[in-house]
Amino acid sequence: MTTVVVGAGIIGTAIAHDLQKRGRAVVLIDRDAPGRGASFGNMASIAVTEFMPASRPSIWRQIPGWMLDPEGPVRVRPSYMPQLLPWFLRFVAASRPSKLRALEAQGAALCARALDDTLALLAETGLSDQISDEGCLSLYTDQAEFKADRAHIEILERFGFPHEVLTASALRALEPELSDKIGMAVRFPQNRSMRDPYRLVLALAERFTAAGGRIERGDVVGFARGEAIREVRLADGRRIPADEVVICAGAFSAKLAKMLDEPIPLETERGYHTQIMASGVTMKHSIIWPARAFMVTPTAGGIRVGGTVEMAGLEATPDYRRAKVTVRRAQEALPNLRCEDFTEWMGHRPALPDTVPILSASAKTRGVFYATGHGHLGLTYAATTARLMGDLISGKTPPVDLHAYRINRF
Ligand SMILES: Cc1cc2nc3c(=O)[nH]c(=O)nc-3n(C[C@H](O)[C@H](O)[C@H](O)COP(=O)(O)OP(=O)(O)OC[C@H]3O[C@@H](n4cnc5c(N)ncnc54)[C@H](O)[C@@H]3O)c2cc1C
Repeated sequence: MTTVVVGAGIIGTAIAHDLQKRGRAVVLIDRDAPGRGASFGNMASIAVTEFMPASRPSIWRQIPGWMLDPEGPVRVRPSYMPQLLPWFLRFVAASRPSKLRALEAQGAALCARALDDTLALLAETGLSDQISDEGCLSLYTDQAEFKADRAHIEILERFGFPHEVLTASALRALEPELSDKIGMAVRFPQNRSMRDPYRLVLALAERFTAAGGRIERGDVVGFARGEAIREVRLADGRRIPADEVVICAGAFSAKLAKMLDEPIPLETERGYHTQIMASGVTMKHSIIWPARAFMVTPTAGGIRVGGTVEMAGLEATPDYRRAKVTVRRAQEALPNLRCEDFTEWMGHRPALPDTVPILSASAKTRGVFYATGHGHLGLTYAATTARLMGDLISGKTPPVDLHAYRINRF
């Protein structure tokens, strides 16, 4: 029995590692080295408080800004809009109040397990010291800004995620670098950050190969199947026999799903980071400023500043203006933040219009499974995804009912 996992990002390596522990012979295939996709440079946050669906009833008011402002927190490149339209209509439809409640519950069900599952995976891989003990601080200039974020806080209260409101002085005692402009904050103690998310992918890949797993470098371009999957075909002509295939190719999964006759509305929400080696600031907590739409995380390699969403597809060249704007916004919160010795990076978040990942068996081909569409929360959901998919693939009942995450829900 051979299980082929396609995609060696955080999702694919975590699943390959889990299936191997359950006794399966696993081949992990990637056209690149493990962890060089979105999993390389994300904001390192186990963001258990960020499951609120991206599409809200208020988004209608924001759409013109997304089209017109190249430096805004969300940007749709106008030339990409015709291609994006079907996804976009589904995205807007996901903001119906009845739908929204269900989507919030589906995100919360994964987030409720995510920190414990991540801590267990870190312990197994010897990386327990690679996650911070501090939480994340959500910043607000004043009460009006805080009120504007009230819906988010209310959802967390509804699902029992703890948080603590901080006055300006309590906040400054925790993070003295923050500007006086910030009048209050909310601390999310369970929203912890990794020192280097890429290192977790590498550790999983190393453990996997050390235990006899095979990693193949190759571009998957097709499959052979009848009622059941038979083989995976690579661009260089190689054919890998497979009794089971798990598709976890991040934002590129839609192409593979289409080859398997199961089209999915998966887009890329492109995001940027700036990794600043000599920032001049020292921080313990990660911070987000909802009104300015950025995040800052202290990582092993310096301060990482990131965020924003750009809808421009998988092929367009990066627009690093977006990374620069984000740093300027971060400097409003951290006036001493210097940006001298730095690198910039762009990654593809695999985004489904309803913000909930696909964790599913194929509805068409026996032996095919999908774990994709983790959007802004792929690192957060990785350990939980591996556990749930491991149960699903090995015929056990997963601790979360996966019906809501099925591939044919669209
Ligand atoms: C700026 C930014 C910040 C983020 N911050 C956070 C955060 O703080 N917390 C969080 O939880 N998440 C965050 N995310 C999201 C998170 O990074 C992603 O959800 C996650 O990395 C997706 O993992 P993946 O394994 O599905 O995809 P990827 O890491 O992209 O891996 C997919 C792999 O599939 C391979 N592949 C694709 N097609 C093929 C093919 N045909 N044949 C062979 N191989 C193929 C690719 O080479 C790649 O290695 C952020 C993302 C971005 C961009």
